[in-house]
Amino acid sequence: MIPNHDLPLGHLTYCQICGSQNLELVLDLGHHPPCDSLLKKEQLHEAERSYPLRFMRCVECGLVQIDYVVAPEVLFFPDYPYRSGITETLSRYLQGLAFKIVDEYALDRTALAIDIGSNDGTVLQGFKAKGLRVLGIEPTNVAKIAIANGIPTVQEFFTESLAKQVRAEYGAVSVVTATNMFAHVNVLGSLICGVSTLLDDGGLFVTESHYLLDLVETVQYDSIYHEHLKYYSLKPMIRLMSYYDFTIVDVERIPNYGGSIRVYAKKGKWDKVSDRVTALVQLEEEKGLYDRCTYKRFADQVICSKVDLLSLTADLHKQGKRVVGIGCPGRASTSLNYCNLDTVLMPYIAEQASSLKLGLYSPGNHIPIVDERIMFEENPEYAVMLSWHYAAPIIKKLREKGLRSKIIIPLPQVHVSED
Ligand SMILES: [Zn+2]
Repeated sequence: MIPNHDLPLGHLTYCQICGSQNLELVLDLGHHPPCDSLLKKEQLHEAERSYPLRFMRCVECGLVQIDYVVAPEVLFFPDYPYRSGITETLSRYLQGLAFKIVDEYALDRTALAIDIGSNDGTVLQGFKAKGLRVLGIEPTNVAKIAIANGIPTVQEFFTESLAKQVRAEYGAVSVVTATNMFAHVNVLGSLICGVSTLLDDGGLFVTESHYLLDLVETVQYDSIYHEHLKYYSLKPMIRLMSYYDFTIVDVERIPNYGGSIRVYAKKGKWDKVSDRVTALVQLEEEKGLYDRCTYKRFADQVICSKVDLLSLTADLHKQGKRVVGIGCPGRASTSLNYCNLDTVLMPYIAEQASSLKLGLYSPGNHIPIVDERIMFEENPEYAVMLSWHYAAPIIKKLREKGLRSKIIIPLPQVHVSED
């Protein structure tokens, strides 16, 4: 029997994949506001909701997950301020994904590619450049940017009934991609059934998710937030997909978001599976991803990094030095709130001029997000790299633009960059 993968809202008492109640607490990060709920100035005087954020591990199937489901309308509101096209590195990888799929799976110009959670259409631009027909599905207003850029997009949540409509209108789909949303959706059962409706047997479903092994090895606790319900490793994902008669035929590790896995699943039962699948499951076991002690060590490292960052910024503050933030990705909310960094220790966060976040305030601690020009003019003594998982290319760019501040990298261990 397939466990119910459409989760109720609120506190969860069972595993999101196998349904077991044997969940162990890895780390309690406390209550946090939704990480992308940036505030307008007038909202600063209003109440702000926060929700439990607890990192849990299923002893049964090995899935690492959080145990609280916030309503998707709260997390993915119409003005959701995230654009995937905005980071050059990310945009290049996403389009590369499309090129790779078209080449490796020999898709031709009659093929239709659909991206679920298509954001500003970056992935689909790649398929389009290869001559395929494309359709995006994106519930937030970023869909309008995609449409303006020539990517047909349905502005709705992806559901089974939407999948039926799309199939009736466009015919069978050759490839469905879901990059960095597969871990977010609380109605995963409906999503996979919907994808199955779109595809014929042998049709390809490609997902990208932040990868648990990278998260654990590089102490990326800041990627734990309510939008990420699951923290995938390959083994539990194989179990999940098999419930729906999909075969994972290939997998690769990619650098996106500080380490992700791209998983290729084919509809139906297939014997031809890449050696990479078995090899990665084996690596996960060797690295202790299914052992309790790995998570004990991870929690200790997180706590240590919090204490170090807080004491470093507090010391600098006492010495009269100014410390600002650089970059405000969703994950910054988790680290800023968990480490209790506020406007005293960090008076502002600098973002590039094209960011949709300028003029807003970080959730919880209410740190203003300003145009990076202010930082270039001021050259504060220190700046904390909140997008530390992309640190090298960002620092290079900032130096070219004339930033002289010393840069603090908060994770895996707090240190001041030599660059
Ligand atoms: Zn489980």
